[in-house]
Amino acid sequence: MADAAFENDLEDVYARAIAAGVTNVLVVGTDLSTSRRAIEVCHDVPGWIATVGVHPHDCEYFDESAIASIRSIANDQVVRAIGETGLDFFREHHPRDVQEKAFRTQCRLARELKLPVVVHQRDSMDQVEHVLKEELGPQGGVMHSFTGGAEAARKFLMLGMHVSISGIITFKNSEPVREMAASIPIDRLMVETDAPYLSPVPHRGRRNEPAHVVETLRVIAGVRNMSLASLQAATTQNASRLFTRELGS
Ligand SMILES: [Zn+2]
Repeated sequence: MADAAFENDLEDVYARAIAAGVTNVLVVGTDLSTSRRAIEVCHDVPGWIATVGVHPHDCEYFDESAIASIRSIANDQVVRAIGETGLDFFREHHPRDVQEKAFRTQCRLARELKLPVVVHQRDSMDQVEHVLKEELGPQGGVMHSFTGGAEAARKFLMLGMHVSISGIITFKNSEPVREMAASIPIDRLMVETDAPYLSPVPHRGRRNEPAHVVETLRVIAGVRNMSLASLQAATTQNASRLFTRELGS
């Protein structure tokens, strides 16, 4: 929602989310400007909360001054997590050591601010696990749009992370993701859109938005053999618990 793809019709997007029963939305920052935009958006919309952070694709200028800026904007009460941060060795826009430094620094900041982390992982499973083992604070976090399978999910769950499932689960060839979704303990499971990306079937190929998360929930409810309503209640409760902010922190 902090993405330029939503610049012109955020009110309509919000209205469609409400109509679909999606009242709580985490607006994700991926660099300094989208982090500031995420905060701005959440000031206008009740129930929406923000993350601030620097994505591995955008970490080339990650230095002392960048971390100071993130620390300062993270003071805003709508900010409930640090991220998106993590490691992306698939696209590898930036050298691995540069990505790792940014990831570690943001995990430490999250710990200092008593906030959870929103973690991006692609082709970097072992390294992400290694960094989290050393740096993850008691607030934990969430592996976002996780597709790594049930066994890998278990490793992150053991570290205190949650696992979030995106629209990828609705794709025909995503059987391993459906198996994984069935295996996650219900109190660690989350859902997301990753909007504007990863639109679930039947919206695949078009811009994604919060209302579409319902398609993802439907598939998860199916593989877990539970009602849509109880799955919605559980994932909402999990997100509310992870993304609370202690008063004064
Ligand atoms: Zn990501």
